[in-house]
Amino acid sequence: MPVPRCSGPCGGVRPAALRRPRTGGAVCRSCFCNAFEAEVLTTLQTGRLLPPGAIVAVGASGGKDSTVLAHVLRALDARHGLELDLRLVAVDEGIGGYRDAALAAVRRQAARWQLPLTVVAYADLFGGWTMDEVARRAAQEPGRARACCTFCGVLRRRALEEGAQRVRATHIVTGHNADDMAETVLMNFLRGDSGRLARGGTLGSPGEGGALPRCRPLQFASQKEIVLYAHFQELDYFSEECVYAPEAFRGHVRDLLKALEAARPSVVLDLVHSAERLALAPAARPPPPGACTRCGALASRSLCQACALLDGLNRGRPRLAIGKGRKGLGEEGEEQSCASKDRGRPIRAGAIQAF
Ligand code: SF4
Repeated sequence: MPVPRCSGPCGGVRPAALRRPRTGGAVCRSCFCNAFEAEVLTTLQTGRLLPPGAIVAVGASGGKDSTVLAHVLRALDARHGLELDLRLVAVDEGIGGYRDAALAAVRRQAARWQLPLTVVAYADLFGGWTMDEVARRAAQEPGRARACCTFCGVLRRRALEEGAQRVRATHIVTGHNADDMAETVLMNFLRGDSGRLARGGTLGSPGEGGALPRCRPLQFASQKEIVLYAHFQELDYFSEECVYAPEAFRGHVRDLLKALEAARPSVVLDLVHSAERLALAPAARPPPPGACTRCGALASRSLCQACALLDGLNRGRPRLAIGKGRKGLGEEGEEQSCASKDRGRPIRAGAIQAF
């Protein structure tokens, strides 16, 4: 079958390189990349996410999402004078055989783009606990799944906040994409977590309780288009699976979402927009958050989830901190802060390209 001409702004000067998963339109590489960047700019501007002069900590995992995010923000900043001061912040969870290679990718990006890089490690921040140590300790509780991603999600969020504070950032951005957001919405429904559902639809958090404002500029970009953008821009990123990812509940939710997407291609964005419009009855809303008595972070009890988790680890009972009753403040959540979202089945551009 002959390759169609591009239906984008170039007016068919070039042959189409792909059919956009999002719109179905056949476009060339150049028109696709321009449209992708323009859509991220619209997200930034519509949500007023990053004001001029913002010092932006980019949560950098070395994976495709944060790599594309940093690349697009640099491009938009240069082209549109956004006056952003970008700084990469990477988290070393202490996962042997996995994170070292991912951090090497982040270091290459920092050098290539001449962006300052700060690496914060769980072991330094959390009294010597690495994710491997947490997993070992969790496995000692008989008859229970380890729930590594639940522990890791809590600690990652705290670690990224610490790293961002160290580089004197005013804002944090993460590479969560539309597929991640849809998975999170579905997961929260399945867990009956009304508090997180009520908060999950916004483009980020405003920075309550002394925390920095966070946002997700790729929230409306599909995973497939992010992979294609990275491919066309020849970005160097890391795409291996975290060793603990196969244990995660999110993997089951992802499989369910893929099955739903086959029947209804718009289901990912439909879910993201559903969460935006969701309003909880007053009686279902979580109580206003307080402050952790130990570290001052947002907390639904006297200790925030990270402090409670570390307490539980040190007492040999890590699961104490993730029981029911802690939902609703954005503290808890399986993989909520994980930037390593290529778990399970990394998507390759060659598997998506139509032409
Ligand atoms: Fe942490 Fe992500 Fe690995 Fe889970 S998949 S253990 S959240 S790095």
